[in-house]
Amino acid sequence: MNNGPRIQREKQTVEQMIRIYCAAHHGKVLCESCEELLRYAHKRLDYCVFGEEKSTCEKCPIHCYKPERKTQIKQVMRYAGPRMTYKHPILAIQHMLKNLKPAPEHPKNKKNKTM
Ligand code: SF4
Ligand SMILES: [Zn+2]
Repeated sequence: MNNGPRIQREKQTVEQMIRIYCAAHHGKVLCESCEELLRYAHKRLDYCVFGEEKSTCEKCPIHCYKPERKTQIKQVMRYAGPRMTYKHPILAIQHMLKNLKPAPEHPKNKKNKTM
């Protein structure tokens, strides 16, 4: 299970984004459905195949989310992304910098190349 500093930071970022979204759309922090989404997103990060090498999930070549979860998280990102800049500027800047990095290669492909 992933537990490095980048993964921890990603967990904080996604949590803050879901909180911003929930407060604006459901008047809560957090409603049951958003809490489920958060748990799901954290679990994906726990088992992300890229680990500490990951880029942002938006740029991920495999995107491991189930279709309905993917739709939900996209809505959250679209709404909360621009608002992160003033609510959580440090996390937002780190996220933006990461988004500039090219998506890493799938670990399986990497292994095959070195063999
Ligand atoms: S979408 Fe991609 S980067 Fe994000 S957790 Fe899943 S595998 Fe990792
Ligand atoms: Zn909610």
